[in-house]
Amino acid sequence: MKLIKSLLIFLPLLILASCGNTANPSGGKKKIVVTTGMVGDAVKNLVGDIAEVEVLMGAGVDPHLYKASQGDMEKLSKADIIVYNGHHLEGKMTEVFEKMRRNKPVIPLAELVHENRYQRAQEGSNMIDPHIWMDIKSWSTGISNLREDLIDLFPNDSAKIESNHDQYQKELIKTDYQIELLIGSIPTNQRVIITSHDAFRYFGLNYGIEVKGLQGVSTVSEYGLRDVSDMVNFIVNRKIKAVFVESSVSDKSLQAVIEGCAKKGHQVVIGGKLHSDALGAEGTPEGTYCGMLLHNARTIQKALK
Ligand SMILES: [Zn+2]
Repeated sequence: MKLIKSLLIFLPLLILASCGNTANPSGGKKKIVVTTGMVGDAVKNLVGDIAEVEVLMGAGVDPHLYKASQGDMEKLSKADIIVYNGHHLEGKMTEVFEKMRRNKPVIPLAELVHENRYQRAQEGSNMIDPHIWMDIKSWSTGISNLREDLIDLFPNDSAKIESNHDQYQKELIKTDYQIELLIGSIPTNQRVIITSHDAFRYFGLNYGIEVKGLQGVSTVSEYGLRDVSDMVNFIVNRKIKAVFVESSVSDKSLQAVIEGCAKKGHQVVIGGKLHSDALGAEGTPEGTYCGMLLHNARTIQKALK
């Protein structure tokens, strides 16, 4: 794995840093800087109080478009460890991470997910759809591998990390089951999530719900009039009741779809706001990974049942 390569180069440094305690050279706890809230939730739950974790992208931030500010660049360069999503989710940060990988561990969590759980971004494309956190079962395979990487980095705290990991996995299994029940209670012909960009494919596969997005897997791609009219026809034919706005993406494209349906005499409403690529605000139930997915499942169930 990539981490192993970076570890080989920096093994001497790591041995120094891990002698006897988990402190960084300045004496405090080691600092782990992460990109998205979903990655942050996993890292925080695994390390507990062993290290400090700072999340760069707060509520409503779109990782596809995210560019690090000068302040964020400083945080990244001062970090002892960086954990990010990967598979080009943070498309504009690839070079920065490649550079930083030369002198510290830089770990892409979504790239630690078991390969057989990957979905292609498009048919025939080599690109992997990066939105793997949407399927708890797949995401949790990455979290198990992240645990191993963290144990390598904090060998003295391996027992703590193992027990934190067990606890977190239990919460993930419980949430996964709750979501299955919620989505399973929607009538089969209404089981469709329509959003502006394609972030819900893994969610759809895991929980048995069809998924349609106007844009591709990245918000960078454009949508055209053809996409809008295809979507309108689909909604009218299937008598779909609701479409969903995403917290980190503009709803302009969906408004065009709603108007198009109205012209054809079918009323479709906005069923609520889903969190696709960012968690909700800190301190709210949607501010955690499991809380965010549960919020999505409840919103979808309420609008389509
Ligand atoms: Zn996305």
